[in-house]
Parts: sequence; structure tokens; C-alpha cells
Amino acid sequence: MSAAVPLLEVRNLCKHFPVFSQGFVKRQIGLVRATDDVSFDLYPGETLGLVGESGSGKTTTGRAILRAIRPTSGSVRFHFPDGTVDAATLSEHELKPLRTRMQMIFQDPFSSLNPRMTVKDIVAEPLVIHRLARGGELDDRVDDMLLRVGLKPEHRNRYPHAFSGGQRQRIGIARALIMRPSFVVADEAVSALDVSVQAQVINLLHDLQQELGLTYLFIAHDLSVVRHICDRVAVMYAGRIVELAPSEELFTEPRHPYTRALLAAVPNPDPDVRMASELSGEVADPGNLPSGCAFHPRCPACFAPCSEKRPLLKDAGNGRWLACHLQDRGDE
Ligand code: SF4
Repeated sequence: MSAAVPLLEVRNLCKHFPVFSQGFVKRQIGLVRATDDVSFDLYPGETLGLVGESGSGKTTTGRAILRAIRPTSGSVRFHFPDGTVDAATLSEHELKPLRTRMQMIFQDPFSSLNPRMTVKDIVAEPLVIHRLARGGELDDRVDDMLLRVGLKPEHRNRYPHAFSGGQRQRIGIARALIMRPSFVVADEAVSALDVSVQAQVINLLHDLQQELGLTYLFIAHDLSVVRHICDRVAVMYAGRIVELAPSEELFTEPRHPYTRALLAAVPNPDPDVRMASELSGEVADPGNLPSGCAFHPRCPACFAPCSEKRPLLKDAGNGRWLACHLQDRGDE
């Protein structure tokens, strides 16, 4: 999608879940297309936002890229300085070295930390599992990471319940970064936090990106957060990317009707700005997708081919990609 070499190249990624009948003899009676034909590039040091309503396939896509779940098909190629690997096809054994280079920051800092483990044990665990440090070196690396995320070395012997939500998320970030990964999926990493704490954690993620040369896939439903932190944004609907664009362009000039509807549904703090109507109708069921464009039952711009032909994601120029028949008609 660009001349520069991406860190991550995702092509035609699919994750489908078979649905089986109840009863003694199980028969496959359907297929949930949670992630369906997703392609994008992610460049070193970049933050790509993945947005969409609940059920749009954002989290499944992030988990399939990290191989927390095995993709049904497609490729997930990482281009590291020492070679290229396709994470989609590796065995569990072959994946082990790759796991040190890609990590996930989870949404809920309350449930993602083991309450019976001390901060030191939580943060050090990935290094211990991969046998990358022990003894004094292990302690030094934990202390260094605690300082980087804004905690103190004296916090190491406390338990998660002694910390606030924001501090717990800092512990989760320290754990994710202790192995110095290149690539991090932040899945709704600030959604569970108060607004004032969200800003602090977002600033922390940004500072750590600069310091450690991280590349982020930032999954979120809060568009104002995405605008603040992301260089580019991919909008997902019913398991597919429908629009991908540089962040500022997407927010100032959205082209896909779904992106426009999502942005119109974001509350505006200015009382003089009249809110556009909210997105109407139910999000498409990935187990029973409408024909043609999956958004067509909700789309105010729907026209003849939309209910019959599926729009493909096409290059719309200037780093923008769009999956909408309006592009072919020259209307968007
Ligand atoms: Fe709307 Fe048709 Fe574009 Fe789908 S393809 S978003 S239905 S105009």
C-alpha cells in the first residue's frame, strides 16, 4: 500500500467461526465471519486505529494478528530487520520467539492482572516464561520498566488491589513492554478508565512509543481518543475494513457513509452545533450478513448495486482506501 517497507503486512485475513447444531449429532449450520478479507499495512513507529461498533470484528482481527487465535486464512507478515515471518502459518512452537516481539495491552486493568501476584511477579512473568532474565538482571529490568510507566520500584512488592484503575493499567503496560516488543495491540486500552486518567495513559503510550520505537494497532470505539493518538485510522464494519485514511483526513472529510454516520454520532461539546441523527438500525449480524454491501440496510446513500454486489476496498488516492460503490459512481 506504500513504497516504504511496513513492519506488518496483513493480507486477506479471515477468521470464521463455524456454528453447530444442538443435540447428539452436531452438524455445522452456519458460519460467523468475524474477520473477513482484511488487508492493511502498518509502518514502523506508526499508530493505526481500528474502529467500529461493537461486533464489527476489531478485537478478533487484533487477536488473529497476534495469533491468540488461529486465522482461518490469509497472511500476517512481519518484516523484521533479521527477516520476514508469516505469523498466520507458524506452529505454536515456531511462534514462541515471535511472541517476545508482539504483545497486547488489555482493556480491563481490573480483571487482566492476577490479584494473587505481586507487581514484580506480574511484570516479570513474560521474562521468566521466556527465560530471558533472572536474579539481579530481572529485578533491574522490572524496576526500569516500572519507572518508564510512571510507577516506583517500591511498588514492586504490592498487589494489584492496592492501586487505582490508572495505575493498574500502567502495570499492564509494563508487563506488555518488559520484553521490548516491536509491535503492540492496544485493545480498548483506555476504555475502562475515567476521562482524566484516559488522557494520562494515552500520553504515556505516546511517550513510550517515542522512547522504545513501538508500533501500535490501537483498537477503540471512542473516536475522539483515536483522533488524538492515531496516524491513520481503519474503519471496520461487519468484519471488513470499509475505509482507511490518514487520521486528520478521515475526521475532516469522511468518505464512507458508515464513517460519516459514526462521526455524526460522536457528541459535540459545542451546544450551538446541531447533532446529526445517530446511526440507525442494528449492526449487521456476522453470522447472517446482508447480500452485497453489508451496510446497505442502514445506508442513507444505498442505490441499485448495493444490495447485490459487495464493494471491494480500493485505492482512493492520497493514502486513502474505500469500499463503497459511490466511489465507482464518482459521488463520494
Ligand atoms: Fe452505502 Fe452502497 Fe456505499 Fe454500501 S456500497 S456504503 S450501501 S452507498
